[in-house]
Amino acid sequence: MERKIICALCGKSLEMTETFFDYYGHHLHKDLPCCPSCGQVYVSKELAEGKMRNTEAELEDK
Ligand SMILES: [Zn+2]
Repeated sequence: MERKIICALCGKSLEMTETFFDYYGHHLHKDLPCCPSCGQVYVSKELAEGKMRNTEAELEDK
């Protein structure tokens, strides 16, 4: 289930880290794969186009 994602810069395995980010003016925090070395956050295309849409729907729901 869990996929290993490697940092393109450091070659280290990214760790799931609670990350704060802005998405179309919404302040969100999600567990995202983050490089423990350089702090690079990996947002997959899948996440950006799929899950984010779900998140947006959740926000609109409230
Ligand atoms: Zn890195």
